[in-house]
Amino acid sequence: MENRFRYRTVAMILALGSLAGMAESLKTREAGRIILVKVLNTAGAPLEMLQGAEQQMAQVYRRFGATVVWQYTAEVPRGEPSLGAAEGYAVYYLRILRREGAYRKELDPRAAGYAAPGSRFVSVFYDRIQDEAAVMDVPEHVIFGYVVAHELGHTFLPANCHAPGSVMSAHMEKEYWNKARKGWLNFRPEDGKQILAALRR
Ligand SMILES: [Zn+2]
Repeated sequence: MENRFRYRTVAMILALGSLAGMAESLKTREAGRIILVKVLNTAGAPLEMLQGAEQQMAQVYRRFGATVVWQYTAEVPRGEPSLGAAEGYAVYYLRILRREGAYRKELDPRAAGYAAPGSRFVSVFYDRIQDEAAVMDVPEHVIFGYVVAHELGHTFLPANCHAPGSVMSAHMEKEYWNKARKGWLNFRPEDGKQILAALRR
């Protein structure tokens, strides 16, 4: 058992190394358009599901010209992290939490995540995503990927950026998820442009 665990740890470290390498090689090709999402998984969300969610989200951002790479981290800085613009990519933090506990009062009880405009932090509630996946009968990684895509959108776009029929729709309901699972749900072209402009700043 102990050996098996050790092998798994080594495999994980190798995987992290190759992600960093990937960000490194992308940097030269697509300077200023890379979003490095550092993921703090305190809710114990399964890695395989998270990899599916990363792909789902990356696909949505790739359609308007941004590259998204997730990297797992053990801690999130207290203040606003450094922008990383000089390195050719923008660093964002994704905290995976459980709804149980904090934030209960301030937020809509149905909210699956939140992020503030101009912030570098996105939080998602894994238990809310699990509930939504069960109720809507949509795979968890699809819901997870789109919730992160939507919440990260809030950090780039103005406060009133909800737009029906797009990733930024205020209502994530049956129709939203039907489109999402078919890959038909995108940012509006003007929102994509605004995100790219924000990344170059
Ligand atoms: Zn929203």
